[in-house]
Amino acid sequence: MSSNIPPQDATDRRAVKPVICYPTATLPQADLAPYQRARDGAAETTRVTVPPRDASCIRVPAGSFLRITSVEGPQVGDLNLFNAHDLSERFYSGKTRALHGTHLSTGDRLWSVFPQLRPMATIVHDSLDWYGIDDYGASVHDVIGTRCDPYTGQLLSGIHYHNCCHSNLTRALADHTGLPLAKAEHHVHDVMNVFMCTGFTHDTGQYFMKASPVRPGDYIEFLAEIDLLAVLSACPGGDCSAEHSSDVANCYPLLMQVFQPIPDALAGWQPPSPSLYDRSHGR
Ligand SMILES: [Zn+2]
Repeated sequence: MSSNIPPQDATDRRAVKPVICYPTATLPQADLAPYQRARDGAAETTRVTVPPRDASCIRVPAGSFLRITSVEGPQVGDLNLFNAHDLSERFYSGKTRALHGTHLSTGDRLWSVFPQLRPMATIVHDSLDWYGIDDYGASVHDVIGTRCDPYTGQLLSGIHYHNCCHSNLTRALADHTGLPLAKAEHHVHDVMNVFMCTGFTHDTGQYFMKASPVRPGDYIEFLAEIDLLAVLSACPGGDCSAEHSSDVANCYPLLMQVFQPIPDALAGWQPPSPSLYDRSHGR
């Protein structure tokens, strides 16, 4: 909606070529080969099934693998990550998006908030990496969609729906940590939308979703770069083909598994240190 007349050089101004904000040439890249070698022979140590329209927690020791698998039917998951020893270090969806793009896949990393800003997890396998970017501009595993929540539902529809991902994550984190709900809620943050297929419309730039291409057996797997507490919600939107703040959609569980590599399989690897910025902020 514009109320101003374009300047005479509007076409020239629009024609300026974009530059990538964060050139990946200077971004520390994950060396996937040792991770993938360590994955061979890794043994399952824990598994948790996330019930539909609910969330569950799982601890993932640094140097272990977290696999999230679609089971029974197409289902989207909303993922929160925390430093298992410090809830204040959590996943930073916005900076991850700025560094890697709107959707994540193999080789991309999930970064933590300031002041640590370090990789919390690295994606080592994504069975949906064939999808790419479709004609609508949509792709899979976004870091743009925040999470479905009861506040936006209340704002737009005047409803009180209690099984949005935000509430599911809040209950699961409260149960796992012993924190009261109101305190746990403050730790819940913008998610990685696992398996969700989303984009922005070409004409209006609006956030959209479409039926996820995920099918039972599809999975995404991460190496935990630090000791992690992962919390995953099986979104009430199911495959998110229609809506996501009600009990209307078909919903399915999601499986979380932790795999421990054989000893010394990651020899020489160590958890990344927090950011080296001195935090003096010019004072
Ligand atoms: Zn959701």
